[in-house]
Amino acid sequence: MDKHPIAVAIDGPAAAGKSTIAKRVASILGFTYIDTGAMYRAFTYAVIKRGLDPQDEKASCSIIPEVTIDLLDDGRVLCCGEDVTKQIREPLVSGNVSYIASYKDIRLALVDIQRAMSKSKSVIMDGRDIGTYVLPDADVKIFQIASVETRAERRYKENMEKGIPTSLDDVIADVKKRDYIDSHRAFAPLRPAADSVELDTSKLDIDQVVEEVLKIISAKTGLEVPCH
Ligand code: C5P
Repeated sequence: MDKHPIAVAIDGPAAAGKSTIAKRVASILGFTYIDTGAMYRAFTYAVIKRGLDPQDEKASCSIIPEVTIDLLDDGRVLCCGEDVTKQIREPLVSGNVSYIASYKDIRLALVDIQRAMSKSKSVIMDGRDIGTYVLPDADVKIFQIASVETRAERRYKENMEKGIPTSLDDVIADVKKRDYIDSHRAFAPLRPAADSVELDTSKLDIDQVVEEVLKIISAKTGLEVPCH
């Protein structure tokens, strides 16, 4: 039976838990999860690796034709064929990614890939501009938020588990800096789509957020949620 593919957009500020939730919900529903932040991070890695300055727009954009980014089904991220899954979470990339993400030409190149990936299958895509720019006709749009403190603490714990050395103060500063740049850039800034549902996860655990998101998807699309 041919079904119309469903698109779910999850946007929100840094470290709001979007990817954790999107991954879980995608696995319950059998949808493909697309981590657009990983693509901006991989591009940032490519710029730094070539010895270029991420704050130099012209130099950063000059490598667009030569950079390839692949998101594999098992969650690994490749940049020009190199496995950069771990490197793209490190502070050097986190601290520079918002500059790279503010360059229109880089965004246009990555948005093309994101749209192509969601053409013929059901997807959950997380990012900053999915509901407003990448997939404006998405069936479901969620804007996931949490207090800065909650977000920073969660990201700090995640970094510890992944063996990425950071301090809580550095994570708070990184989250605030990225939110500021992401919401003040000229092209496709971070903001909720007019037709998005806001979901504040400050006082919810992961299972509760997953259930909320499944409820929203089911209410908007009529999709039956499988036992999980
Ligand atoms: O989602 P994550 O925090 O990994 O994203 C890293 C950075 O990539 C964000 O801070 C933002 O600058 C950029 N980004 C973006 N648009 C997206 C996804 C991520 O600008 N759709």
